[in-house]
Amino acid sequence: TATKPPRDTIAAVATAPGRGGIGVVRVSGADLAPFAQAIAGRLPRPREAHFARFRDAQQQVLDEGLLLFFPAPHSFTGEDVLELQGHGGPVVMQMLLARCLELGARLAEPGEFTKRAFLNGKLDLAQAEGVADLIKASTAAAARSALRSLSGAFSAEVDGIRDALIDLRMLVEATLDFPEEEIDFLQAADAFGRLHALRLRLEALLDRARQGALLRSGLNVVLVGRPNVGKSSLLNQLAGEERAIVTDVAGTTRDALRETIQIEGIPLHVIDTAGLRETADQVERIGIERTWKEIERADVILRLRDAREGAGEEDAEIDGLLPEGVERITVHNKSDLLGLPASRHEREGAVELHLSARTGDGVDLLRAELLRVAGWHAHGEDLVLARERHLIALRRALEHVCEAEERSGAALELFAEELRLAQEALGEITGEFSADDLLGVIFSRFCIGK
Ligand code: GDP
Ligand code: ZN
Repeated sequence: TATKPPRDTIAAVATAPGRGGIGVVRVSGADLAPFAQAIAGRLPRPREAHFARFRDAQQQVLDEGLLLFFPAPHSFTGEDVLELQGHGGPVVMQMLLARCLELGARLAEPGEFTKRAFLNGKLDLAQAEGVADLIKASTAAAARSALRSLSGAFSAEVDGIRDALIDLRMLVEATLDFPEEEIDFLQAADAFGRLHALRLRLEALLDRARQGALLRSGLNVVLVGRPNVGKSSLLNQLAGEERAIVTDVAGTTRDALRETIQIEGIPLHVIDTAGLRETADQVERIGIERTWKEIERADVILRLRDAREGAGEEDAEIDGLLPEGVERITVHNKSDLLGLPASRHEREGAVELHLSARTGDGVDLLRAELLRVAGWHAHGEDLVLARERHLIALRRALEHVCEAEERSGAALELFAEELRLAQEALGEITGEFSADDLLGVIFSRFCIGK
């Protein structure tokens, strides 16, 4: 990108809001020696922890702690960075921050430290996103994958494929100058074999990225069913501990209740719905409205029924209201009351399970079914915690490579053009080609201080 790195000094509290043993104010700028001098009386040796008293303009001590200095370019942002490690109380932190602003820093925007790291070439875009994803990771598996992105493993794979594309493009473009010999020449260089290998690599990466995207955002599961069919009980079983209210009184689950549980490290956002029925109760009605909103965003709908009763009129009514095209699993609960073992079968292409939320019999069948619906098949450690934007770029690159394969008999210019477009799509992932507005969107989603 042509954007010039900004040179003004920025500051923010880098630790989470609230009280803690230690709180950190981070400062980044072009030349922080005078800054350190003013606030701590001296500039510490690079990358060494030094005890310091942080003082205001009147030389009153605001706090004491550690001062760390990371001179450019060997810092997170690539600029001079100071870390003021003080006591982690909101008032102390605000006082230290205010002092930094007084000394000429301005309050950093969300993600601005990471953005500077990107603009100064310390991180590429996929790595910068890895920083945010690691912070936000909701399972250990997601955190491990985010760390892989952050450390550049994902970028290295994208770049590897892109470099192979560039080699191939150069070969094809060189051939354009010698039209009589083009076919022989390309055959000799095994251009089409290389293109094919490239497609396979892209497909494999896309698959791992898709699996990683699942780890990152998880699956929205909505539990629907009449009051008392056992929605709360099933949620508790899936969660493995008591989390939702279970009672015998119909209509006690008043509100959409969101629980995040894990199955093989995939976050499953399960929404236990209020009994979907007409009610005069105000609170219950609000719960019902909210439930319908959740249902529209669902990846899977779990239809819960009482195995003794089968589908009633009310169930048919609810079915008619559910959005089309969302995966459905029908669960016949309370199989224990019929004395039947848990089972799975398919009816008209839809999966039906018989299980007992009370005894837990068959809940493993449901977990496996949820993983199947999610399309989860990975077990390795090498997943890529991809974002939607990465998936889109990878898919586009793959489309162009497929186009190129199909055009291999046709005009060579078109072939070369498809390769160029594929290369450009890959470049978007690491930020080699990226519009400023995309950067704005990505970094604004960070928290302040990151
Ligand atoms: P919800 O209104 O759909 O959330 O239903 P609850 O989970 O609150 O359950 C209603 C009642 O059915 C409670 O008394 C549960 O203990 C009971 N129940 C739920 N699942 C089962 C099951 O699999 N077997 C039996 N025997 N009872 C169940
Ligand atoms: Zn309930």
